[in-house]
This record gives sequence, structure tokens and C-alpha cells, in this order.
Amino acid sequence: MSRCSSWRFVAGAGHDSSHRPGGCRTCWVPCRERVEPGREQCDGCLAALVMHPEAEIRLTLAESTGVDRASLETLATDLDLRVSLAAQRALDDLDPEVTSDEDVFDAAKPALPFSAPTAETDWLTEETDR
Ligand SMILES: [Zn+2]
Ligand SMILES: [Zn+2]
Repeated sequence: MSRCSSWRFVAGAGHDSSHRPGGCRTCWVPCRERVEPGREQCDGCLAALVMHPEAEIRLTLAESTGVDRASLETLATDLDLRVSLAAQRALDDLDPEVTSDEDVFDAAKPALPFSAPTAETDWLTEETDR
């Protein structure tokens, strides 16, 4: 029987939420929950990491190997762009025949010239011109 090798985030430890897994033994404790053979993390740990308030933690999860598809799909909708892009890349790796890199790029482009310029699209245009 395998056991979960993940650090489990302890909510309400009263510490800064930026403390890293394994770096602080108050915010994070070894889980050791029993998991199916071949899995490294239990569902509870994955759910805790996906919902972690610190974007850096979610980004680390998105860039980890062995994260299941459902968690990656949740992370792909993350409000933090670094997290959602990393999760999208990981999902692409799960489906090597589907190359959605271009889709992601297209989605990031402003909808000009078909929409009236706003402060946001002006900013995006500047970024792409640079
Ligand atoms: Zn801590
Ligand atoms: Zn666990």
C-alpha cells in the first residue's frame, strides 16, 4: 500500500501563507494518507494545494508532474495567469497530439480592431508592439 508523499497544508496555522511545503513544519505536515499504488498524492492534499491562497504554491503544483487532469483543469482556470498557463501547458503534455499553444496565444491577443479601444486593450497593444 502506497502512502501520500505530499506535504499537507495546515489551514489556520497563523503563519504567512507564503511558507513553503517542507520549509515550515507548522504550516505543512507530512500527510502519509494511504493512496492507490502509483499515486503520489491523496485527493485531500491535491484539493488543499489547488485551493491554496498563495499563487506560488498553486504554480508549483501546476508545474509538478503527476498532477491529475481534474486538478490541472481547475488550475487552468486560475485567476493568476502564471498558474493557468502552467496548468494549460501540463494539460497539453497529457494530450501531446492536441497542440493548443496557439489557442492560448490567440486568446491572449486583444480583440482589435473589431472592438472599441479600452484602457485594457491599449495596454495589451503596447505590450505586443514592444
Ligand atoms: Zn509557517
Ligand atoms: Zn495526502
